[in-house]
This record gives sequence, structure tokens and C-alpha cells, in this order.
Amino acid sequence: MTKRRAVIAGGGIGGIACGLALARKGWEVEVLEQAPELKEVGAGIQVSPNGMAMLDRLGVTPMIEGTLFEPEAIELRLGRSGRRIFRLPMKGYAQARWGNRFIQIHRADLHDALAQALRAQPSAQLRTNAKITGYVRERGGASVYLERGDRVFGDVLIGADGVRSEIRQQICGADRARFTGNVAWRAVVPVDALGDNAPPPFGVIWAGRGKHAVTTRVKGGTHVNFVGIVEQDSWTEEGWSIPGRIEDALADFGEWQPCLRAVLEASSGLFRWALYGRPPLAKWCDGPVTLLGDAAHPMLPSMAQGAVMALEDAVVLAEVLDQDSDCVRALQTYEAQRKPRVTKIQQRSAANASMFHRHTGLAQLATYGPMAVASRLSVGAIHRQQDWIYSFDAGA
Ligand SMILES: Cc1cc2nc3c(=O)[nH]c(=O)nc-3n(C[C@H](O)[C@H](O)[C@H](O)COP(=O)(O)OP(=O)(O)OC[C@H]3O[C@@H](n4cnc5c(N)ncnc54)[C@H](O)[C@@H]3O)c2cc1C
Repeated sequence: MTKRRAVIAGGGIGGIACGLALARKGWEVEVLEQAPELKEVGAGIQVSPNGMAMLDRLGVTPMIEGTLFEPEAIELRLGRSGRRIFRLPMKGYAQARWGNRFIQIHRADLHDALAQALRAQPSAQLRTNAKITGYVRERGGASVYLERGDRVFGDVLIGADGVRSEIRQQICGADRARFTGNVAWRAVVPVDALGDNAPPPFGVIWAGRGKHAVTTRVKGGTHVNFVGIVEQDSWTEEGWSIPGRIEDALADFGEWQPCLRAVLEASSGLFRWALYGRPPLAKWCDGPVTLLGDAAHPMLPSMAQGAVMALEDAVVLAEVLDQDSDCVRALQTYEAQRKPRVTKIQQRSAANASMFHRHTGLAQLATYGPMAVASRLSVGAIHRQQDWIYSFDAGA
């Protein structure tokens, strides 16, 4: 029997993971990435136990052992006073409760490992400088058009081309991604450059009025990763890598804990960009064409689940395509399986951002007071709220 063939638009974490999952099932795969070289921008990400379960299934975990960092705990603190609201033990605990580790890693290290694993698959091909301009449905599949003029056919076409997806526009109609009213700062700084002023060596969410920050460790614990999310009325520039000015970053976070100021001042490359999103889509599929990752369900990063959901999508999609010789039906199954979970997580992510950004002292007290009490009475109370997310093994 001839191998079935998948064309994947986009070589981000979602597209590469999907290509790898399908190639491991014996599919012929072609991943088409618009950038001239395969490169992840951005900073650190957290991969929760449900994401680690997917990396295990893709055989990638051993490839990131040297660069991941497993934090002792995740804490929620107030950004100005540093006061701790709760502490969730993670190291050891996550494995015991949810069956896998909770880790922090630089996106580039995760992306490199996925790409290396994909390149090692004889039936997979990864093409850069391959910007897709649209697709056409054909007998037995779909073809994409590339800006450079070629046409590439697959039994299925998977749009993993991010929040501004071309494939999504064609499936669902043209609309612009919506500015969420939040901009993000990012910086990565060697721990050695911070002396006694390094943020704690675990994950901390620093909450404040109209903004929050997250500090984690990446590159095996040798670097501090800073992400700051700030509410803002409007935004006009495009892209992820817009250099930010230190004075603007300090205007946002300079009055917070000294360790946050220290990270911003020590950073040699501060970046600032806008967070875009869109409401849940009515449909993901058009016959043999579907969507995956941010193309299907962009979300605010406040639950640290965007890339993890893309990994889950990838594993589920490969599984259903492997089990059903009717590709169109398999894509419908995939959408039906994935949509309720990712929609709930999209909604919770928006709610979390607002929970970290309480605008008045009274609202902070009303929100964080009960959390502080609950976590002191029983740490399990807060852990339990994560069970439906972290215990889930999408490939089971
Ligand atoms: C500040 C911040 C922090 C985050 N932290 C976390 C975290 O801790 N944990 C977590 O799980 N998630 C996190 N996320 C979310 C995560 O980064 C995204 O959900 C994830 O990167 C989505 O991957 P993707 O492959 O779907 O899309 P993308 O990463 O956007 O990849 C899309 C790819 O498609 C390519 N492309 C686009 N258009 C075309 C075209 N026409 N032709 C060919 N190629 C094309 C692009 O160049 C790109 O390479 C965070 C996000 C932000 C903004």
C-alpha cells in the first residue's frame, strides 16, 4: 500500500510535532515553513505534565533532558510587596499526582529537539522559504500553493500556521486576529549576571494591578526567563521581536520587587510584542483540511497551555488518522475530540489573566485571600483544580 501523505503548513512547535507524530505512524510528511530558516523566537515556556506525556509519546523527552529545568514549586506572589499567596510544590509531586514532570525550557531548545527528531524520520521532509498562499481541495486530498509558484499535494492538509493562519482564513473566512488588550515583555538573562538579586529558583507568578510577570529558569537552570504581561489600550506594530526600551519596561515593573528590576536592567535584549487572539472557531475542518495549535485556538499565555495544547493536538491527530482510513472522517473525529477541551482552556486562560490583574486592593483581597487560606489549609485544594488539565493523556 502506498504511504499516505500529509502536508503541514507551519514549522512551529505544533507543525513540527504533528509532522513527527505522523511520520512515526508511517506517513509521508512535508512540513512547509515560510521563514528562511527554522528558528524559534521567544523565551522560555513551561511544559506541564500533560505536555510532557506528549513529548514522551513522540520520543523527544530524552533529547531535552540536558536543557530542561524542573522547578521545586510554582508560587503566586504580589509583584510590589513580594507577599506570597500560595506555593504549589512541583518537583516529585507532579510526577506522583499527574504522572509526569512539570518543566521549564527555552522554546528554542524544545523546538530544536522536535525538529531534530523530525529530520531523523526517513519519510519526513522539512522545507523552509516555503510561504503558503492558499489551498485548493482536490480529488482525494488538497494542494497548497506556495508564494514561489509550486503546488504541493497531500491526502490531508494541516494548517499549523499560527494565530494569523492563511489556512484558517480560507476555512472560516477572512477576519483579522483581535488585539487582546495585552502586550508582553520578554527577557532572558544568565543567573550569574544577577548576583544576589536573582529571582527565586522556581516558577513565580508576580501579580499586580493591570499586569503580571512570570519568572522561570531555562537552559538547565542557568538562565532566568522573564515574561511580563501588561494591559494596554491599543497596539499598531506587528511581530514578536520588536526591541523594547528599558525605560518603558521599568515604567511597568521598576517599582516591583528588586529581583524583577534586576532582570530587566541586566537584559541585553528586551523585547515587547502584542498578544493577539480570536474567539473559539465554529469549525476547524474543510474536508481533508484542518487546523492545529494557535491556528485553531490561540489563547492568552496565562495558563501556560498554548504549546502544550498544540502537542496534544498533534498526537491526537496522528492517532485518529492512523486508525481511520477515511481521512475526512478522521479529521472530524479529531475536531470533535479536541474542541471541548481547548475551548475550555482558552476561556480559563482569559479568566486567569484577569485574576492575576486585579485592579483594586479590595479585589485583590477578595480573590487572593481565599486562595491563601485554601493553600495553607490543604495544598491539595489548589492542586486538585489542575487535575483535569495535567492528568490528561491525550494519546491514551
Ligand atoms: C508570552 C508567551 C508565553 C507563553 N508561554 C507558554 C508556556 O509557558 N507554555 C505553553 O504551552 N505555551 C506558552 N505560550 C503559547 C505558545 O507559545 C503557543 O501556543 C505555541 O507556540 C503555538 O505553536 P504553533 O506551532 O501552533 O504556532 P506558531 O508557534 O505561531 O508557529 C506557526 C508557524 O507557522 C509559520 N507560518 C505562518 N504562516 C505561514 C505560511 N503562510 N506559510 C508557511 N508557514 C507559515 C510561522 O512562521 C511559524 O513558524 C506562550 C505564548 C506567549 C506569547
